[in-house]
Amino acid sequence: MERSARDFSAVEKYLVTARERLHALDALLEPGRPEAATFRTALASALGALDEARASLVDPREASRVVCPHCGNRVMPDATLCARCWHRLEPSRTS
Ligand SMILES: [Zn+2]
Repeated sequence: MERSARDFSAVEKYLVTARERLHALDALLEPGRPEAATFRTALASALGALDEARASLVDPREASRVVCPHCGNRVMPDATLCARCWHRLEPSRTS
């Protein structure tokens, strides 16, 4: 795995861990307490920010893919066969 793909996986793992810890905090809240609603709103906001961070990440393995000229499927640059339409491909494509 190349470095950028490893970095992506590491960042994704940290985001998942942060989400799990926020959910664990949420589970500790006692529903009857007056500050619980305010705290839950803050937690939901933090979870939303993590979701946005995850959505803004681009998997470098995905970014390096190229478009199959026959069906538009995204394939690895050195693929010789499209996994969707099974057309033979030229590995030197740059599109
Ligand atoms: Zn195809």
